[in-house]
Amino acid sequence: MVIVQKYGGTSVGSIERIKAVAERVARTKRAGHSVAVIVSAMSGETDKLIGLAQQVSRNPEGREMDLLLSSGERISAALTAMAISNLGIPALSFTGRQVGIITDADHTKAKIERISADKVKEALGRGIVPVIAGFQGITETSEVTTLGRGGSDLTAVAVAAAVKADVCEIYTDVDGVFTTDPNIVPEARKLDKISYDEMLELASLGAKVLQARSVEFAKKYDVPVVVRSSFNDNPGTLVVKEDSDMEDVVVSGVAYDKNQSKITVTGVPDKPGVAARLFEAIAGANIVVDMIVQNVSSDGKATDISFTVPKTESRQAVKITENVVSELGARDVKIRDDIAKISIVGVGMRTHSGVAAKMFGALAQHRINIMMISTSEIKVSCVIDSKYTELAVRVLHDAFNLGEGGKRKPKGKR
Ligand code: ADP
Ligand code: ASP
Ligand code: MG
Repeated sequence: MVIVQKYGGTSVGSIERIKAVAERVARTKRAGHSVAVIVSAMSGETDKLIGLAQQVSRNPEGREMDLLLSSGERISAALTAMAISNLGIPALSFTGRQVGIITDADHTKAKIERISADKVKEALGRGIVPVIAGFQGITETSEVTTLGRGGSDLTAVAVAAAVKADVCEIYTDVDGVFTTDPNIVPEARKLDKISYDEMLELASLGAKVLQARSVEFAKKYDVPVVVRSSFNDNPGTLVVKEDSDMEDVVVSGVAYDKNQSKITVTGVPDKPGVAARLFEAIAGANIVVDMIVQNVSSDGKATDISFTVPKTESRQAVKITENVVSELGARDVKIRDDIAKISIVGVGMRTHSGVAAKMFGALAQHRINIMMISTSEIKVSCVIDSKYTELAVRVLHDAFNLGEGGKRKPKGKR
């Protein structure tokens, strides 16, 4: 088999951990498989580098950030390759550029346009383990880019697709994908398998165990993904195409996201074209707006619009909004950073009613106020005060019976 193994920050977080990774790679190789490895920066390294940048500039250029951030993954790739070679298994480290990961020029959140992976294929063909620095690529004009936080997952899935791997194993610090973050809810249950669509929603809604874009990519190119722990040999969670018994479960997981800010524009003239003008301006800066709520104006003249954007871009979004606001004659712009988005996800929602009502009821029972709501076929999200995040996650996990007691029963035993 051709196996791609990606090791996250904690899994390469120390020299001991890197040696443990090398042992696992060697074991896989000795079992007769071809192995390509993708590594993240050692845990905390990317945040540390961002901290350094903030000390020298209030608004560092994306281009410089990317050169800086890509260095973390290079360190772990070189060290991991050395550790593997040291066990008598030939290994070579590569940067994103060397394996031909070509991206657009959207610095710090670049999208992969294509990947050649020639050097990876060549190494595999010669029985060598390629060890690839995750999270990074290169533009047509040779500028270094990074793929957004958690982007090593995307490198792994893209390499797996390029070399037609039989499986892409994502090694992390938990046993797989759980019904919610096991570090917040100890009763969270590990899922044996989850559909690409559910995983995509969970990831987009904040479950950082997989980067959302990597799931999108895996679905598009049919890459079988397994999420498992680098600390044990437990089987992990299979991320695969939806099958019929997945629909029996109404809610499969709860996610939370504290990385958004809410911007409210008050006194917006209630007339055609206003929302278009505002959101065109924000989209023009490549900022992704998530939730939008517009109140109905009581006097037919002015209304309020609230929307959420990533916290890292909220200051820029406020500036753009303020410019548009003065042009539109709106009253003022407010921002709140202390918000969280809590979501429930499940393909079974398509065929069950009353799910949203149950969610609102559970939050109300604990006096958690809902500021914004959004729904899709397979999820319901609510924006709440961030101080209630952990409580809300636990309350919803309980309300939808996601702990051990709620385990999906095998067919025929119902
Ligand atoms: P890595 O460094 O290996 O990429 P991450 O920190 O990016 O690891 O992702 C793993 C973390 O994701 C876990 O430690 C856990 O706290 C968090 N997490 C959030 N939601 C979930 C979930 N539903 N299932 C498993 N882990 C989750
Ligand atoms: N090191 C990067 C980050 O911390 C990429 C990754 O870990 O996947 O976001
Ligand atoms: Mg990660």
